[in-house]
Amino acid sequence: MVRIPITMCHGIRHDGDYPLTADHLDRLVKIAAELNFESINYDQLFQWFQEGEELPHRPIMFDFDHPVKSMRYEIHDVLNKYGYAGNLFVNTGPVDELYAKPMPSDLVRETMTWDEMGQLIESGWHIGAHTVTHPNLSELSLEDASGEKLRAELERCDETLKKHLGITPKDFAFTGTSWSSIAEREVSKRYRFGRLWIVGTEYQVDGKRTRYADLVGVDGPDEADGGPPIAARYITKDSPPYRLPSMEIQRSLIYDTDAFRRYLEGALKT
Ligand SMILES: [Zn+2]
Repeated sequence: MVRIPITMCHGIRHDGDYPLTADHLDRLVKIAAELNFESINYDQLFQWFQEGEELPHRPIMFDFDHPVKSMRYEIHDVLNKYGYAGNLFVNTGPVDELYAKPMPSDLVRETMTWDEMGQLIESGWHIGAHTVTHPNLSELSLEDASGEKLRAELERCDETLKKHLGITPKDFAFTGTSWSSIAEREVSKRYRFGRLWIVGTEYQVDGKRTRYADLVGVDGPDEADGGPPIAARYITKDSPPYRLPSMEIQRSLIYDTDAFRRYLEGALKT
């Protein structure tokens, strides 16, 4: 069975226990290149998933959330060096805020401009939706059972991306480690896929703490490394399309080069 590894991060971040520098990202992405992985986007995923088309021999997805400036520069440059392109999910609120005030100098600006996002698209990057204000979707489902607030978030995010980038996003990334049945219903009306974010074994689901493995219907115990069962960490034909995984780079699970290599090699075992 085809197993597609999928990584996630929020751009270059020097702080915390697992700092992501351009050099460290380079060490990791180089491993994917050495193993002959080829990056794919959500169009290719959809064509394989729904229409049975062929994927590259060793597909991988490099996902990124949030419109932060390092996506266009350090992150883009590292991926590009190895012939890869990423999938970027944009919450539009920070970009609206950037343009609501005088433009800060490049030295202090942290948010990407629309031009920079356009440059990523030209470079083969795929853009998806990630709401406007980045609400906790589990809590929002308790606060607004009608789903109206979430619908407004999705509509406005899509309209803003259409207006400034000329694209209508077809794919969605859930916010944080939050998910709800209402959000899945609304997301499934507008998008082809909904993607989750693996940082540990738990998730916030409909206002309750839930095992990630239970949310995605994968059997077996969580692993000793602090993550869900190995089978839950890859996209397969059996993955629920609105509960796709992604593995955070800036946590213990795949931060070290050895762990990263093991994750990628795990996709090659059939
Ligand atoms: Zn996010």
